[in-house]
This record gives sequence, structure tokens and C-alpha cells, in this order.
Amino acid sequence: MLNRQDQYEGLRSALEEQLQRQTDELTELTIHSGEPERNGHDPHQIAARIATTRQSLADTAQALRRIADGSYGRCGRCQADIPVERLEIRPHARYCVPCQAKGA
Ligand SMILES: [Zn+2]
Repeated sequence: MLNRQDQYEGLRSALEEQLQRQTDELTELTIHSGEPERNGHDPHQIAARIATTRQSLADTAQALRRIADGSYGRCGRCQADIPVERLEIRPHARYCVPCQAKGA
């Protein structure tokens, strides 16, 4: 069985890939955001996707920072360990499930 640190190592690679993907997506969206409205291209929709992608990118970058400073995997609210199974599904999760449910 892997210890937590080894498991985080796998999550870190996943987060780094995610960061790269989101950066590429943001670049792509930014290129298209300047184009005029036409069939199949809605600048408002692009702007909304840019905002969402930017937010996800910030979450991902923050998770990587938490891995670097050793606070990764702990709930930002109650300090409980976030189960690795949850982190594997949402590597950028900042809160444990109960805190997330409470709207942390
Ligand atoms: Zn919590």
C-alpha cells in the first residue's frame, strides 16, 4: 500500500497536467474571445468559459502550492485529513466532504 506522500506524488502529476490543460484552454479561449459574434460563436459564452477556466486554474495552482508547502490534503476549515479517494476525484479539493456540504 502506498503511503500518503506517495499518493500525493501521483496527485501532483495529475494537477500539473490539469494546470497545463487549463492554461492551454485559457489561451485558446482568449484567442477566440476577440472574434465577432457569428453563427456558432458567442462571445458571451466564451467570456463565461474564460471566467470558469480561470477559476479552475487558480484552484489547481493553489492545490500545487499546498502540496509544496505541506498543507495539502488537510481540510481548510476543520483541519481534518481529506480522504485520498476524494482527492483522486477532485485533486484541488480544499475541504472535506462535511465542510464542503456546509458551504465552506
Ligand atoms: Zn472539514
